[in-house]
Amino acid sequence: MTERHGHYIDGSWREPSGGEYFASRNPATLETLYEAARGDRADIDAAVDAARRAFDRPSWRALSATKRGKLLRRLGDLVAEHAEELARLESLDNGKLLREMRGQLHSLPEYLYYYGGLADKIEGAQIPTSSIEMLNYTQREPLGVVGAITPWNSPLTLTTAKLAPALAAGNTVVIKPSEHTSYTILRFAQLAAEAGFPDGVINVVTGFGPEAGAALVDHPDIAKISFTGSTRTGSAIAASAAARFIGCTLELGGKSPNIVFDDANIANAAMGVVAGIYAAAGQTCIAGSRVFAHRSVYDELLERVADRARSIVIGDPLQDATELGPLAFGDQLEKVESYVHLGVDEGATLHAGGGRPQVDLPGYFFEPTVLTDVTNDMRVVREEIFGPVAAIMPFDTEDEVVALANDTEFGLAAGVWTQNLSRAHRMARRLDAGTIWINTYRAMSPMSPRQGFKNSGVGIEHGIESMHEYTRLKSVWVNTDEAPVADPFVLRS
Ligand code: ADP
Repeated sequence: MTERHGHYIDGSWREPSGGEYFASRNPATLETLYEAARGDRADIDAAVDAARRAFDRPSWRALSATKRGKLLRRLGDLVAEHAEELARLESLDNGKLLREMRGQLHSLPEYLYYYGGLADKIEGAQIPTSSIEMLNYTQREPLGVVGAITPWNSPLTLTTAKLAPALAAGNTVVIKPSEHTSYTILRFAQLAAEAGFPDGVINVVTGFGPEAGAALVDHPDIAKISFTGSTRTGSAIAASAAARFIGCTLELGGKSPNIVFDDANIANAAMGVVAGIYAAAGQTCIAGSRVFAHRSVYDELLERVADRARSIVIGDPLQDATELGPLAFGDQLEKVESYVHLGVDEGATLHAGGGRPQVDLPGYFFEPTVLTDVTNDMRVVREEIFGPVAAIMPFDTEDEVVALANDTEFGLAAGVWTQNLSRAHRMARRLDAGTIWINTYRAMSPMSPRQGFKNSGVGIEHGIESMHEYTRLKSVWVNTDEAPVADPFVLRS
């Protein structure tokens, strides 16, 4: 019989209030892996209530910041011990390469160690005042219950990027993972209990976005929503949060430029372009999906990228030799395929890939694809495809490529390949994106803040700044003067 998982609320497993479960499939084999509880408003109410009570209980509220940090570090140790198991589960659930998920899971404890170390470094300040008798200081307080809504492409990493700073700052959380990848988040909550987090501090309600997700966003006791996913859903969440004046951190879509100048090391740049768009089958918000190559190196770059695209080994994500796994679910495959057809209808040339490959497995596989003869006004170049589809375009001057790169609704990341030091830093300044990579692509660390500009997001993830996003700042005024307080209506001369 298929295994079934309930919600994780207040330290124990709960049946869904509506009694319904839904299947999660392995996208490579199409087998059902497990069934997860289909959460609804009643389940969200129970989880938020548990988180609210946990927030007020002395076992969490009165815990010293140093002890909160220790819990996070202990959880980091447990994740490290279970890294192989968790990586395998994620690979089975979303079809990404086991090799890649292993890499992610082995570095995941770094988030927990980093924010564990920061927990007792949340400081206020003493502010100068106009009177020596008047003391003014600030303190940072936790917000309360944080709602975290996360996607399927890197389930644990993207959830931990929210959870670790929120917990370090003393909040409690309710997580609504993607309906495509519920299982590792539930395992993570179990490990957190083992690490010693009190009941109710971390709760997980599984289910669908418009049901469990929307109920979490609308819940009156949620103090903040932290979301990673599509720009469309992010916009709806921001509107709902604005109506209640609560904050939100949103990490949304992208259509990132990867720019290759004529003075670049072209072999390296080609590898950077390949990594930027074909790693994770292009299913990352930071995918370098718009490639701009200087006209004098365009042909060479195109051939290098297309040759590698054609030789990429597609197949079972659990095998070490595999370089590209399936897309995560059927709708995703159809979306990518229809964008490729649209591109061709718009006048693009299919230079490599473009179809479903021959693979021994029945899953949602799609070839690494290169589109040429594309222009910045085509929908395939403007809209996020979230698949292994690169659009490669020539340019002539630096000014021209800056204008082209910035001519997008998104502003998540950008890559620049050049050996000219001045140009590298100049481009970093001129590109309208929150993360700039020079002669590399996809570098990331929990210590380095990330922000999506324009329609790519609101707020900051990673770094000290992210932890501050889970606090509110209070200003305290103290009159240290023991002299009688003057009558405010008697004017002094
Ligand atoms: P993706 O393309 O990454 O699946 P989505 O924005 O559809 O992007 O999903 C990201 C997360 O947001 C998932 O956990 C999903 O269930 C959730 N979600 C989708 N729609 C809503 C909604 N209307 N309200 C709240 N959460 C939602």
